[in-house]
Amino acid sequence: MKVLGIETSCDDTGIAVYDSEKGLLINKIYHQKKLYNMYGGVIPELCSREHIRSITILLKKIFQSDSIIQDIDIIAYTAGPGLVGSLLVGATFACSLGFSLDIPVLPINHMEAHLLSPMLECKSIEFPFIGLLVSGKHTEIIAVHALGKYEILGNCLDDAAGEAFDKIAKLLELPYPGGSELSKLACQGIKNHFYFPRPMIKHPGLNFSFSGLKTFTTQVIHESGKNMQEKANIARAFEDAVIDILLIKTKKALKQKRWKNLVIAGGVSANHLLRKEAEKMMEKYFNGQVFYNSLEFCTDNGAMIAYVGFLRHLEAKNPQLDILVNPKWSISDL
Ligand code: ATP
Ligand code: FE
Repeated sequence: MKVLGIETSCDDTGIAVYDSEKGLLINKIYHQKKLYNMYGGVIPELCSREHIRSITILLKKIFQSDSIIQDIDIIAYTAGPGLVGSLLVGATFACSLGFSLDIPVLPINHMEAHLLSPMLECKSIEFPFIGLLVSGKHTEIIAVHALGKYEILGNCLDDAAGEAFDKIAKLLELPYPGGSELSKLACQGIKNHFYFPRPMIKHPGLNFSFSGLKTFTTQVIHESGKNMQEKANIARAFEDAVIDILLIKTKKALKQKRWKNLVIAGGVSANHLLRKEAEKMMEKYFNGQVFYNSLEFCTDNGAMIAYVGFLRHLEAKNPQLDILVNPKWSISDL
């Protein structure tokens, strides 16, 4: 079975084809990031317009160079959560294409796609596992019992981890999106030169809050962030604090469930220190394993949509005339 995946939830246009026998055949991505560097963040209206332009170019390229179009069995598209205008572009393309080719179409939840995307590369991941979903707008600890059985154990009460990375990176005058840039700068920072607070780690429960850490870091930037070395020290202290918070709560979740497998997914899972520290934790305390994606599949991409489309293909509607999007579609509604 071949699934065409279309991802347009925010500012990346992703198109991919997943074959259930041969694996991922095509994975194309168009990043709008450079466009938003001068604004320091995405502009939703521009995102939708860029998607219209880029989705046509990417689909034409695929369909002209490959005979694959004749073999597509279903089309999967991101229906939420995300920016409503961006989602509508992908959904409209997917439903129109499905209608014209007379093939079924399937709306996919973007967060479920992030969460299960490591299974695309690593077939040995087995349910159940603890999922640490850390992205631009989400920080969640999820007990993943089976496909579609998600128990949210912890959530973010304010800014998501990725958003906090991006905001601090902006204050440090790093290019957008700042998470990976901040992490690169942090490599040059001196460990423990600054020590930043770890909000909510002593609270019972598994929820997160990053706003206090963000305010504290902002103050230190205003007071001390004058030269590159100081900025690097701040980046290091901030990154250490975020990773500590994430892993302290994840450890609690693993203990609570007595599970041995951890999956880290979403854009922040690209963070090398988070990966390293998670590996150490799993080995030391759980004799277990941590799984994460190759860098190209951590942030938004069409491959994860095509893959989850395959996993959920039995739910596809034939052909879909209703263009369904839900900007606030939570994984807990699945
Ligand atoms: P969501 O998936 O919650 O709707 P999104 O799609 O915008 O949000 P992703 O594409 O999953 O988010 O991830 C983007 C986020 O990942 C950005 O906030 C970015 O700064 C962050 N990020 C990417 N690489 C790194 C890194 N190496 N270290 C820390 N953060 C990173
Ligand atoms: Fe995402």
